[in-house]
Amino acid sequence: MNSQESSKYWVIIPAAGDGQRMQADCPKQYLKLNDKTVLEHTLAVFDRPELISAIVVVLADSDPYWPQLQQSLSHFSVPLYTTVGGKERCDSVLNAMQELEQYASAKDWVLVHDAARPCVTWEDITKLVSTLENETVGGLLASPVKDTIKRSDNSGRVSATVERNQLWRALTPQMFRFEILYKALLQALTSKEIAGYITDDASAVEQLGQKPLLVEGSGDNIKITTPEDMLVAEIYLSQKN
Ligand code: C5P
Repeated sequence: MNSQESSKYWVIIPAAGDGQRMQADCPKQYLKLNDKTVLEHTLAVFDRPELISAIVVVLADSDPYWPQLQQSLSHFSVPLYTTVGGKERCDSVLNAMQELEQYASAKDWVLVHDAARPCVTWEDITKLVSTLENETVGGLLASPVKDTIKRSDNSGRVSATVERNQLWRALTPQMFRFEILYKALLQALTSKEIAGYITDDASAVEQLGQKPLLVEGSGDNIKITTPEDMLVAEIYLSQKN
């Protein structure tokens, strides 16, 4: 990469999950929240050509719902690319990185954001971007844990109360230098021992011995997982608008 060039920002939206815990007729990213699908809400937040170079949406193979969004997405200012996802979320993100490889430089930034988190705000994204500007690795939005946390034993009884003052909920976007995230995902997916623990991008980077920076974001940035999350997301989105 030419060191005179400033780093670009690329966005990956993994949207290839089937969202089984939602027990709905279609994957959760295509459920309607107010007037739009979850995925359209999420994508709209990133349509910021002043910062974002392109967005790669990762879709399930032969996704029948994506073509139905084409009209509403036709006004997008940021280029939208698609690629096909894999078995786990980290496979899907790696596929998108392979798609981006032809455009991105090693020191560019990649922001990975779950399609199922439509309540993220542009304020939190710019906070993440400005806080990490001079970092060499990257970091993630996160929210301090508020509840008292218990660990259970195999019989469902409390085996310990976990000290909560250093516990955080990992949110997205998670933002890393292109070359670091690429290396981390490749390593994670080739190591059977760690592949099962990679539920977010930061955990892959942690396996390289790196320490991603935690940037406090709003707890409203929930991941839609079960039907009651849809009601909560509707309220947060109405407030935002
Ligand atoms: O299942 P979970 O809610 O943790 O998934 C987080 C995000 O990752 C969702 O937006 C989902 O669509 C995406 N995903 C994916 N490929 C998979 C599994 C999940 O893109 N194989």
